[in-house]
Amino acid sequence: MVPFLDLRLQHFGLEKELKAAFARVLASSQFVLGDAVAEFETAFANYCGVKHAVGVNSGTSALHLALLAAEIGPGDEVITVPMTFVATTWAVIYSGARPVFVDVEPQYATMDVSRIEGAIGPRTRAILPVHLHGHPADMGPIVEIARRHGLVVIEDAAQAHAAHYKGRPAGSMGDMGCFSFYPGKNLGACGEAGLIVTDNDDYAATMRQLRDWGQQRRYHHTKLGFNYRMEGIQGAVLSVKLPHLPRWTALRRRHADEYSRLLIGAPVATPTEADWAESVFHVYAVRSRRRDDLQRHLALRGIQTGIHYPIPVHLQVAFRQLGFRDGDFPIAEEFAHSVLSLPMFPELTVAQQDEVADAVRSFRLVRTAA
Ligand SMILES: *Cc1c(COP(=O)(O)O)cnc(C)c1O
Repeated sequence: MVPFLDLRLQHFGLEKELKAAFARVLASSQFVLGDAVAEFETAFANYCGVKHAVGVNSGTSALHLALLAAEIGPGDEVITVPMTFVATTWAVIYSGARPVFVDVEPQYATMDVSRIEGAIGPRTRAILPVHLHGHPADMGPIVEIARRHGLVVIEDAAQAHAAHYKGRPAGSMGDMGCFSFYPGKNLGACGEAGLIVTDNDDYAATMRQLRDWGQQRRYHHTKLGFNYRMEGIQGAVLSVKLPHLPRWTALRRRHADEYSRLLIGAPVATPTEADWAESVFHVYAVRSRRRDDLQRHLALRGIQTGIHYPIPVHLQVAFRQLGFRDGDFPIAEEFAHSVLSLPMFPELTVAQQDEVADAVRSFRLVRTAA
């Protein structure tokens, strides 16, 4: 059997270091924020080459606070994409603003920059691109358009730790960059965690205040705040893991190369990388017009796969009140129907990749049941 993801392997390998980190937090008993979180914030800010990092309790909270720091709220519009994890859109809704979708481009399923200007109106305040599957969106034109129209850029880098755009780290190109450390992300906590990076002193100060009940100092609440603080244990775990991220990223990229080589001539389209991008393959997604049959075919051979994502955000029942319909964003919809994520994690072996590729190749011989 080839699992889609096996987090235990990573944790076995780091068991001693992680237990020591847990023990340190237990000894200090700084379970919420504290030194371990502050140390990780500094390390991650340095890693991204930015001034500030603000640790929070999830990637969703990171997005929410970034929007609030930019003073985005009711009556405002935020331009984003319908092909993403639903949290990107929820965060916009939480802020009170209205999400305005532009379709993705067909290659990497990231924001189609040629559609942005057509979506800008008098209420537009921000652009929120997503580095889907770890492949950076085309940030150059996005930032340039935003500057020309006086808009804030917030990057959803929840899947893109250590990804690069023309040599620059994901999350560092917009006004703020939001990360998730959900356990299955490329850098994962042992629980929920997230973080925002920014060079802007005011945004950072506002987000530090908002994550902690809007306190200016203890029990003096000057803003409507939230309980969005990062836990000490997660800060300590993430500090242990961060130095391993470059190696894990190199392994993911090597596995992606290997899959693409093994799948030459197979009945699927393999993912490509823009010449300006260094993807971190949070997932390795192939495409097939018979995706559901292919997924069943692989499952019968013991190969677990995933779909990221089967329903674009604009067609989710929860967003029905936004009034979108089938066909509104055809590229995102086509992507949702055809995309299939193969097993991908740093510890994946060549033998497992061979097994997956053989199973995909043998799909060619299978006739559709219907
Ligand atoms: C995981 C993810 C989020 C949300 O992060 P959480 O830590 O789960 O709240 C947001 N956006 C994208 C693209 C994600 O993949």
